[in-house]
Amino acid sequence: MSSIHAEPPPPIVTEPDGLIYATGPALGKGGFAICHRAERYDGSKPTGHLVALKIVKTKMEPAKLAQKFVSELQIHSKLAHPNIVAFYRAFSFQTSTYVVLELCPNGSLADMLKRRKHLTLPEIRRFVIQICGAVKYLHHRHIVHRDLKTGNLFLDENMNVKVGDFGLAALLVTEKEMEVKRRTTMCGTPNYLAPEILEKGKGHDEKVDLWAIGVIAYTLAVGKAPFHASTKEEIYKKLRSGTYTWPELSATTNQSSDLRALVSSLLVPEEQRPPPDQIVSQNFFRFAYVPSSIPTSAREQAPSWP
Ligand code: ADP
Repeated sequence: MSSIHAEPPPPIVTEPDGLIYATGPALGKGGFAICHRAERYDGSKPTGHLVALKIVKTKMEPAKLAQKFVSELQIHSKLAHPNIVAFYRAFSFQTSTYVVLELCPNGSLADMLKRRKHLTLPEIRRFVIQICGAVKYLHHRHIVHRDLKTGNLFLDENMNVKVGDFGLAALLVTEKEMEVKRRTTMCGTPNYLAPEILEKGKGHDEKVDLWAIGVIAYTLAVGKAPFHASTKEEIYKKLRSGTYTWPELSATTNQSSDLRALVSSLLVPEEQRPPPDQIVSQNFFRFAYVPSSIPTSAREQAPSWP
């Protein structure tokens, strides 16, 4: 295991129970958090166990944001699935809260897409199957992610997708009442928003994640979201009309009629969207090549498939 930055000396963060994390280089910055690579130490001995350490100022303003963070921790800490970023622990130290997460050293699908422009169909099949696995697991537990997008889909060291950032996730069904609560909050990145979220007074449920899977599949193939526009208003207008087009099949895009059918099965009114199991049984995935792994070189260039 390669050692992480020692210059300048990394700040050491000690948990109340004595575990130590030596923070390394920053991995990225989000809306209210900064994420660092870190190595766990057993006393003064490095363990070689690398993690992602998300650091959030404890005193968050406004209070609503702090509440969101608490709900993110409550939801994320209960999840365990091979395609969801593992949550190890959270603790407070001085003026910050630290969240110790599984390290995803290969960045996000958004980073990969920026470099590659569009992905090959076998890559899209593998990634979408993995996303569907995570979404099935979440929906089975009545959790809706509400912010699925390429920037929240991280890649572990073996290029497996890990769904992350549960900042907007919501528990739809309270365990006691088992009563479905449709959420009415407006959230999500405009490009991935399901149209029902725009309708005033109408709530939305786990179907918004299925819509987002359609947007993700299109985006990975084309390099741009289907309702892409330069302003929020234009995106909303396109979403309301429900019309999107596919660019001409050319060297700059990657499509097939089965992929188009997959996307068009998802970008439909909410009651018509297939659940994850039905998504992965569509023709796009059947009788077609699904790689059992994706090389890390795929971050930079298209793999050559058999
Ligand atoms: P916020 O909740 O403020 O949006 P994020 O959870 O998105 O913060 O994290 C901010 C950035 O840190 C991400 O965009 C990504 O670059 C990086 N990051 C977050 N989690 C991980 C992880 N588990 N492994 C590697 N990098 C991560």
